[in-house]
Amino acid sequence: MSKLLIVGTLAFDKIETPFGKTDKILGGAATYIGLSASHFDVESGIVSIIGDDFPNEYLQLLHNKNIDTSGVEIVKGGKTFFWSGKYHNDMNTRDTLITELNTLEDFNPVVPASFKDAEVVMLGNLHPAVQNSVIDQMSVKPKMIILDTMNFWMDVALDDLKKVIKKIDVITINDEEARQLSGEYSLVNAAKKIHEMGPKYVVIKKGEHGALLVNEGKMFYAPALPLASVFDPTGAGDTFAGGFAGYIAKTEDISFNNMKNAVIYGSNLASFCVEKFGTERMQNLTKDEVLQRLHQFKELTQFEIELE
Ligand code: AMP
Repeated sequence: MSKLLIVGTLAFDKIETPFGKTDKILGGAATYIGLSASHFDVESGIVSIIGDDFPNEYLQLLHNKNIDTSGVEIVKGGKTFFWSGKYHNDMNTRDTLITELNTLEDFNPVVPASFKDAEVVMLGNLHPAVQNSVIDQMSVKPKMIILDTMNFWMDVALDDLKKVIKKIDVITINDEEARQLSGEYSLVNAAKKIHEMGPKYVVIKKGEHGALLVNEGKMFYAPALPLASVFDPTGAGDTFAGGFAGYIAKTEDISFNNMKNAVIYGSNLASFCVEKFGTERMQNLTKDEVLQRLHQFKELTQFEIELE
């Protein structure tokens, strides 16, 4: 079975959308990535940091999904990363209200020996220096390194980010962030510029407008499944990344064609994530539900047209 190493936040989130508000609930990039990747037959492990305020039941939830948490450092008396965000009426844009790094401030990640040879490394949204340190600890060159990031890190650690993206294979980034990182408005030009910074493949996530996979002149676009109700988009990007990484780890095929399927799996899983607040929908998502929606995806995008 392939191994998937996941690095990212385990967090408390407080979310407000036009449909309601939450108190502090379970969140974090690594949480969403792990839950999403658990839909594939892979051995996954998380490297992260939390305080002892992080409820044991949250860790148990990850264990129940067969996610190894031996790489999660628990700081005695420390406080877990906290993020709060508010979505606008269109649900595509949000304001970050609070980011409290807490234990994340002095995080020196330690990759467990059993994951130093992971075939796929998914560097979730975290300080780019932390992402870099994880790459340096791998004893065997991974088949694929995927990196996700966000505007926050572009604002506070752009040089570190530029350093780490030279070493990776795939970057997943949302449209606004791609524009910020590249200084280009057109997403095609943005992808081209980001490609020149290092990653062979650029995946631009466009929320309810799907995702674009770009590699040296080749392009693939997957729509997002049109949904009747979207309650909370938090974690959709990470769930996408987890599905993408999980599928690549399971298949161990890094061809462009296979990556198209990874984009579809990522989009498919993300479409569930947004249906309820936080991680709720992902906690009990079944194989059958995933499969049924994949059929819907296929129908949505398949057409036959006779070309002369
Ligand atoms: P997404 O909606 O996919 O962009 O991811 C939302 C998740 O990212 C939330 O669960 C937050 O806890 C987490 N998050 C928000 N800001 C940051 C940050 N600066 N660094 C790492 N994780 C973050």
